[in-house]
This record gives sequence, structure tokens and C-alpha cells, in this order.
Amino acid sequence: MKLLEEKILKDGRILPGGVLKVDSFLNHQIDTELVSACGEEWYRIFKDAGITKIMTIESSGIGIACLVAQHFKVPVLFAKKSRAINISNEFYTARVVSYTHGHEYDVIASKKFLSKDDRVLIVDDFLANGSAMKALISLCKQSGAEIVGCGAAVEKVYQGGGNEIRAMGYRVESLARISSMTDVSIEFC
Ligand code: 5GP
Repeated sequence: MKLLEEKILKDGRILPGGVLKVDSFLNHQIDTELVSACGEEWYRIFKDAGITKIMTIESSGIGIACLVAQHFKVPVLFAKKSRAINISNEFYTARVVSYTHGHEYDVIASKKFLSKDDRVLIVDDFLANGSAMKALISLCKQSGAEIVGCGAAVEKVYQGGGNEIRAMGYRVESLARISSMTDVSIEFC
């Protein structure tokens, strides 16, 4: 998506360690017009897929998911980070390895809000190694919900997570696909 790529080149910053900072428009301050345009694009792709729920992960996916869900007119369910040692059986649970912070944590989704009747579009701000998205896929699978597709605003294709998820048989539609990133430059696919 040209608009998003241009915004990344204009306002994104590359941090040491291969982290692309987009906090001025995507995951801290949010450019609602731009993110809503991302939602419109995913709606164009998935509008006939009977989606019943947009799913994402706490916390940076939430704002994006809400703007996407407005186009589909369905609820957002976000996987919550869990600090509980013994998680009750009211929740589906999955483990995430954080790309940006380097630690592992569990996420949960209430069984009340995800079932085999759901058709889910998973969205997140970034798709890098794929751990966050795989955790969301796991939560959906535990519930029996159908995963219609996955979408990241930004996919760092060179990290391989997106292609692993495609190889698992899921449709992944990312809107800005980065093929390579150095300390000073970004190339899109
Ligand atoms: P993955 O689990 O695919 O390795 O990483 C995805 C998660 O890590 C996203 O939820 C996102 O919050 C974070 N992330 C991964 N790469 C980047 C990056 O380059 N910049 C930022 N801001 N977040 C990232």
C-alpha cells in the first residue's frame, strides 16, 4: 500500500537491532486517517469472507484493530498479556516470544468471546519472526474458530515469520512489505 510505504519512508526511524520505529503514526500516536485507510484496504480484500471478528494482541495492535473493525462492522478481540501463574480454564492461552523486548510471555483470550462459529481476521502492527501472530493463530485454533486471514500493517519479510505462516496454509496480507532494512535504508518488496 503506497500511502503506508511513503509514510514509513517519511516518518519511520530505524533503531539499532533492526527495529523500525513508527510511533509517530502507527503504534503510539496513531494517524487515524492512515490506519483507517489500511482498514479499507483489508476490507477490500476480505469483504466477502464473512468475517465475524477482528483479532489482535495487546497492546500496539488494539488501535489498529479498532479502525479496521469499523469497516467490517464486527467486534475486536485482543489477546491480553497474562501475569497469572495458574490461568483458569475460562481462557485459551498461548506463549509469545517478544521481538522488541526479547522475553517470553503468555497471552489469553476468554472462551466467552471466541468460538467455532467465528470467522477471524487477525491483524497486528508488525509481522517479524511471527511469534505474536502464531500465538493468535493458536488461540483461534483452540476455540475452533476459522482463521480467514492474517494482516500486518508492516511485514519485515526478511525475518521469515510471514512466509512460515503462509507455509502453514494461512492467507497473509501485509500492507507494507519490507524486503531489507539497514541502519539507514528501507527497501520494499
Ligand atoms: P514477531 O512476533 O512477528 O517477531 O513480532 C511482532 C511483534 O513485535 C509486533 O506485535 C510488534 O509489536 C513487535 N515488532 C516486531 N518488529 C518490530 C519493529 O521493527 N518495530 C516495532 N515498532 N515493533 C516491532
